[in-house]
Amino acid sequence: MNTSTSSSGAAPSNGLPRIAVLATGGTIAGSAADATNTAGYQAGVVGVDRLLAAVPALSDVAQVQAGQVASIDSKDMALTLWTTLAQRVNTLLASDDIDGVVITHGTDTLEETAYLLHLTVKSTKPVVLTAAMRPSTALSADGPLNLLNAVVVAASAAAHGQGVLVAVNNRIHSARDVVKTSTFALDAFQSPEVGALGWVQDGRVEFQRSVVRAHTVATEFVIGATWPGVDIVTSYAGVSRVAVDALVMAGVRGIVVAGTGNGSIHTSLQQALADAVSQGVAVVRASRVGSGHVMRNGAAPDDTLGFVAANGLNPYKSRVLLMLALAAGGAGPVVLQRAFDTY
Ligand code: ASP
Repeated sequence: MNTSTSSSGAAPSNGLPRIAVLATGGTIAGSAADATNTAGYQAGVVGVDRLLAAVPALSDVAQVQAGQVASIDSKDMALTLWTTLAQRVNTLLASDDIDGVVITHGTDTLEETAYLLHLTVKSTKPVVLTAAMRPSTALSADGPLNLLNAVVVAASAAAHGQGVLVAVNNRIHSARDVVKTSTFALDAFQSPEVGALGWVQDGRVEFQRSVVRAHTVATEFVIGATWPGVDIVTSYAGVSRVAVDALVMAGVRGIVVAGTGNGSIHTSLQQALADAVSQGVAVVRASRVGSGHVMRNGAAPDDTLGFVAANGLNPYKSRVLLMLALAAGGAGPVVLQRAFDTY
């Protein structure tokens, strides 16, 4: 893994904010054989220096330092890379020489990485993730403008203390709320129910609301080198208990269930999950629906079975929070429910 950092763009000391751009791969760094191909391409093959060179206007906005943290398709995101990335971001932001961080990332798991950083970055300086739905070689590639806008947001005073942000397609989202909602559309990133925090256009940044729940410096979570095993199962017609029993046998510490509707669970799966709780496995009820929230005891007897309700987090973000809460020593449904009610 290449974790080098190099200077790029503007002169060393011109009074502009100093922004580190960390590249991890993704479609924004994707390359296809021809410009009309937006689906058959290789993600994560274009280096950070070429991404920055495609956006000369960056030198009007910030003094940019480039770092290549990884070159992957984000479908292959690994827990070890999460540790490396979060530690790198925290180290950079602890320096008086850096005013903010931008991370280029694949769209597939961006919402998970963003939420992880939202809970583990220990700074009020801006951290902004961006991505692209079209590879860098495409006609009307969206990556260059998304990258410029992300740097504009990271360089803005308004972004301080807002938690980790996602700037894509002119919108600014909170890492807590944002999800990928389309396999192909440029406006794939949405914040269901609550909407974006604001927008960025032509160098102007405007926030229309702030995220209410605790994040970054206000969490008890620190990034560690080891991760408790937490997996996700789904409830659907005819589901069996085989997956849950196999996970318990494999020694997982937690299971998130992507339930139907308000986190309701097929009777056979629910019995398997209740048995898992009795073996010391934490069980969180989320929903497979894609928007809305899961209310405690709204669709399952949480109190009697020892389940935790995910509140407004989808199953993938619920898994991130459950891993961090378990790693921080959280145990039992009361303590874990408090984490889901807080973050
Ligand atoms: N598979 C790609 C990735 O997540 C998709 C993208 O970036 O849009 O890396």
